[in-house]
Amino acid sequence: MGVRAVKFGGTSLASASQIRKCMDIVQAHPDRKYVIASAPGKRSADDEKITDLLYQLYEQRSGDYAHTWSKICLRFTEIAEDLGVDASKVDSALGEIDSHLGPDTSVDYCASRGEYLNAMIIAAHLGWSFIDAAEVVRFSDSGEFLAEETNDLLGEALRTHDHAVIPGFYGATPSGEIKTFSRGGSDVTGALVARATQASVYENWTDVSGILTADPRIVDNPLPIPRISYTALRQLTYLGASVLHENAIYPVRRANIPTHIRNTNQPQDPGTWIQGEPFAGSSLADASPATPQKMIGLAGRTNCLALTVRKVQWSGSLGVGAQLLNLFDEARIAVDLVVTSVDSWTFIFRGDTSTKESVMAKIGSLDPDSMEVRENLALVGVVTTGTLPRAKTTSAINQSLAEAGIDVFLDSSAESMHVVAVDSLRYEDAVRSIYSVLT
Ligand code: ASP
Repeated sequence: MGVRAVKFGGTSLASASQIRKCMDIVQAHPDRKYVIASAPGKRSADDEKITDLLYQLYEQRSGDYAHTWSKICLRFTEIAEDLGVDASKVDSALGEIDSHLGPDTSVDYCASRGEYLNAMIIAAHLGWSFIDAAEVVRFSDSGEFLAEETNDLLGEALRTHDHAVIPGFYGATPSGEIKTFSRGGSDVTGALVARATQASVYENWTDVSGILTADPRIVDNPLPIPRISYTALRQLTYLGASVLHENAIYPVRRANIPTHIRNTNQPQDPGTWIQGEPFAGSSLADASPATPQKMIGLAGRTNCLALTVRKVQWSGSLGVGAQLLNLFDEARIAVDLVVTSVDSWTFIFRGDTSTKESVMAKIGSLDPDSMEVRENLALVGVVTTGTLPRAKTTSAINQSLAEAGIDVFLDSSAESMHVVAVDSLRYEDAVRSIYSVLT
């Protein structure tokens, strides 16, 4: 029998009725042995996420936090009661947390309690072991996540439990100080559990039926992506798609474990498979350059800047590119795109006026002939299968933008990615017109 690591997101676990759906899913397959739980999310659009309330609680910890705390307690006692979980257990866990609240409480301790309590309740409901992530997800004293130590600790702990529920999002230092991943970090814990248990699949259950080909807030009913490689997913995420937490890719990718994104509310939907490449036996021979290019998905982001630097005789002088990029490094700016022409370099990056000023001051030391900044740019990128023929995809993108009257400030295409920079005001129009021409 195999093992599946099964992570449920906040909306999937937002209430007792949602938790019941998840538990039906868990019980529908014997391989679903390890459950990774998020904190309860929103039950409706105007509801509050428990983690957001916990961050508020942290802000109020030295003063009057009673109102926020009572909202948090009520959510958990309601869930526990509805699931038939022993109320005294939940009350004592809540009492213990309350006794820790005060000026010295850390933000990570507060934020992590939603996952802690939810996982504890779910474990009690299922009659499974609860494994506190503080015991098995390790951070160094300086707060750096320790992947190998965690893998050993998790593997060791889970070997002794046939079934367990593990809270997502946090871990602890050797001295027991709680540390969290960044927001959305339960995805990371799920991937760590999958790796440590050598799972056959990492199931990530959420509130959408997989990864969509475009942002549904911009494009009407975008198609879901049935299969995507970890590489292409990384490209889409980097371009701005919010799918999985970035750090949830590495542990499973390196262990060659596929991730399956599925919808708790529509478990019959096929969802999205994320795999290493090439997909053996799949119709999408993703890594093969010989396959025609076909759009996998598109994503983008606004608030980008372009800085063009020029100096006569720069082209052909060795070391100029490295010097310029070093100055961006010194200004702590990650460059998203670089395009060069004769004696000119254009860098696209994210930032505001102060980012712009700090890098311009640094580049000024190279005494360029001119520096020009273009603000309010958006990047839109298309990730495709295969790598050739590129010209067809590029011309379809550019033609669709021309027809929509959208000026392209710059375009770049390499390997299986095509990126255009347009005015931020036309961002959504650009996404829609590219989507319509490539689907
Ligand atoms: N509850 C945490 C958050 O809201 C972590 C997670 O849900 O993955 O960011």
